[in-house]
Amino acid sequence: MSVKELARELFPEDLFGYAEKLTEGELKVLKHLREEMEKCIRPVLIESYEKALLPREEILGAFAAARIMDHPDLFVGREGQWKPREIYNTFLYLELARFDPSVATFYTVHGGLGYNTILIGGNDEQRERFGVPVRTFQAQTCFALTEPDHGSDIAGGLATTAERRGDKWILNGEKRWIGGAKTADFIPVFARDVETKKIKCFMVKKGSEGLSVENVPHKIALRLVNNGHITLKDVEVAEADRLENINGYGDVAKIFVRTRADVAYIAMGTAAGAYNAALRLTTTREQFGRKLAGFQLVQEKLARMQANVVAAIAYSVRISELQEEGHEVMLNSSLAKLHNSLRMRETVALAREVCGGNGITLETEVARFFTDAEAIYTYEGTHEINAMLVARELTGIGAFV
Ligand SMILES: Cc1cc2nc3c(=O)[nH]c(=O)nc-3n(C[C@H](O)[C@H](O)[C@H](O)COP(=O)(O)OP(=O)(O)OC[C@H]3O[C@@H](n4cnc5c(N)ncnc54)[C@H](O)[C@@H]3O)c2cc1C
Repeated sequence: MSVKELARELFPEDLFGYAEKLTEGELKVLKHLREEMEKCIRPVLIESYEKALLPREEILGAFAAARIMDHPDLFVGREGQWKPREIYNTFLYLELARFDPSVATFYTVHGGLGYNTILIGGNDEQRERFGVPVRTFQAQTCFALTEPDHGSDIAGGLATTAERRGDKWILNGEKRWIGGAKTADFIPVFARDVETKKIKCFMVKKGSEGLSVENVPHKIALRLVNNGHITLKDVEVAEADRLENINGYGDVAKIFVRTRADVAYIAMGTAAGAYNAALRLTTTREQFGRKLAGFQLVQEKLARMQANVVAAIAYSVRISELQEEGHEVMLNSSLAKLHNSLRMRETVALAREVCGGNGITLETEVARFFTDAEAIYTYEGTHEINAMLVARELTGIGAFV
C-alpha cells in the first residue's frame, strides 16, 4: 500500500490529504496504535466512562505496544532527538482524540505537558532520568500548575510555596484539576520560591510524605481521566529533583507554546470523532422510509461538520510545520487552540443534533465527544484567555485586568 493509500485509509475525514505528508513508518505506528486501542481499550470504554474509572493498564499497554513516543521508525533522520516530527504529533492526537478525548487527554498530560516540562526544564541528567521512563511508558507523569484559587490568573497568582533548606526544598500548597495525578509515578509541581518569588518546578514522587491526592468528583466530561486535587503539607523534594531550567513563569510559557498546540490537535480530533460517529448513524438509521443522511437539513449539517474538521486539520498541520522549523510562538498556539475549540464545539453540537435521542446515549459515541468537548474548551487556557493572548499581540494592549 502506498503512503497516499494508507493515509486515505487511516484518515478519510482529511479530505485535503494532509496526512500524505507523513512517512510510511509514521503511518504504520498510527495504524498499530489504532489496532491496540481497539483491542485493549474499546471493550472497557463505555463502562469506564460511566463509572469514571481510568483503564490505566489498558491505555498505557496500548501506547507502549505501538511505541508511540519512541518507535525507531519515528526517528529516521533524527536519531538522538527526544521527539518525533511535529506533524506526526498532530496526527497522533487526531488518532487518539478521534478514538476518545479522555484517552487523548490522558496522553497529553503525560506525553505532552509532563514530557515537555522535563525536556524544557530538565538538565541532561534529569532528561535521562525522568524522560526515558516517560517516553517508554515505564512510568507515568502529569503536570501540576492550576490551584483551587488560581486558574486563569495562575501566572501572577500561584500560591504554592517552596522553601529551601540545605539540599532539600519544602513544598506547601494545593493543586486542582491535575489530570492523571492519582496514579502518576512523579508529579511536576510548580511552586513559588519564598525567597526569590520565582516559580520553580519540583518532581514530587508518588507516596511522598505529606502528599495527598483526591480525585475531583462528579465530573460530566472526560470521565475516564482522574483529575487530582493535590494537597502538599511540608513535602520534601531533593534539590536534584528540582528541574534546573524552570526559573520563572516565562519558562512555563515555553512549555505552553508547545502543549497549547497539542490541545488544538485534540480539539481537531474530538470534532473528527463526533463527525465520524454522526456520519455512521445518519447513513444507517432510517426515518420516513429513508436514511437520515438523505434529508437536506441533515446533509447541510454533515457538510458543515466536515468543513470544520478540514479547517481544524489545516490549522494544525501548518502550526506543526512552523513549530518544526523552530518558529514556536504563543500567538500561533493560542490562535489554533481558540479556532479549533470553536470549530469543535460547533461540530459536536451538530453531531449530537443529527443523531436525535441516539446522540445522548453513550452507545452511539456522539454523547461522549459532546460532553468531553466542554473540558477541552476550558483547559490549556480558556477561550477568553486565548482570545486575549491573541488580541494582545494584535493590538499591543493587554486586557487581562
Ligand atoms: C478537565 C480539566 C483538566 C485539567 N487538567 C489540568 C492539568 O492537568 N494540570 C493543570 O495544571 N491544570 C489543569 N486544568 C486546569 C485548567 O487549565 C483551568 O481550568 C483553566 O486554566 C481555567 O481556570 P478555572 O477553571 O479556574 O477558571 P477561572 O479562571 O475561574 O475562569 C472562569 C471563567 O472566567 C473567565 N475569565 C477569567 N479571567 C478572565 C478575564 N481576565 N477576562 C475575561 N474572562 C475571564 C474564564 O475564561 C472562564 O470562562 C484542567 C481543567 C479541566 C477542566
